[in-house]
Amino acid sequence: MKDADCLFCKIIDCEVPSEKVFEDAQVYAFKDINPKAKVHVLVVPRDHYRNVDALAQADPALLAHMVEVAQGIADDAYNGSYRLIFNTGEDAGQTVFHVHAHVLTGEPMEE
Ligand code: IMP
Repeated sequence: MKDADCLFCKIIDCEVPSEKVFEDAQVYAFKDINPKAKVHVLVVPRDHYRNVDALAQADPALLAHMVEVAQGIADDAYNGSYRLIFNTGEDAGQTVFHVHAHVLTGEPMEE
């Protein structure tokens, strides 16, 4: 499932460049272009889902895998501590409507 107009589908397909951190058959992870922490990585499923709720309903195992990948990134980059954010809906700050987990790590987080 791809959306021809979706920025993150284009990043996954290498039509738009990105700094890859991790990939496997199900997910692609890359550095956020506007980092909000020392390490700020976006984990996205290769299949296009509009938001985390749509993903959770369609494929909860894939959502669990995204969390597993986020943990691995935090283990590799820091000490296993990380903040995991899914902005959901415009009013919550979602700007790209291809579900993505923000993984923030690499330093102690302010509250
Ligand atoms: P959202 O606001 O939760 O939808 O998050 C979208 C994120 O995508 C933001 O943190 C942006 O900085 C990031 N972003 C937008 N375009 C690019 C890009 O081309 N490469 C990497 N990150 C991007």
